[in-house]
Amino acid sequence: MSELKACPACNKNNNIGTEKMSDGRYVRFRCFTCGYARDEWLDTETDALKSWQSRPIEDKYRNALEDICTAFFVEGGDKTTAYNMYEIAEKALK
Ligand SMILES: [Zn+2]
Repeated sequence: MSELKACPACNKNNNIGTEKMSDGRYVRFRCFTCGYARDEWLDTETDALKSWQSRPIEDKYRNALEDICTAFFVEGGDKTTAYNMYEIAEKALK
């Protein structure tokens, strides 16, 4: 299994695991450090994992940042500055 993404609430990833609904049928991932879990229960652990790993807003920001940095470079900005811009933005997202 690939590394679990950090909890979107507390940004830690050392205490994340599955929990089952009381009837044992549905599952989701929970951060046991802060208690965060998405408000959803899924049929399989695979679906629950996919949901935990999915970060649509983060992905949207990352794609936008990549586009901005690429546009800067394409418009004549130097490669090092474009790279530094991306690195700064990446750090802010962590
Ligand atoms: Zn947490």
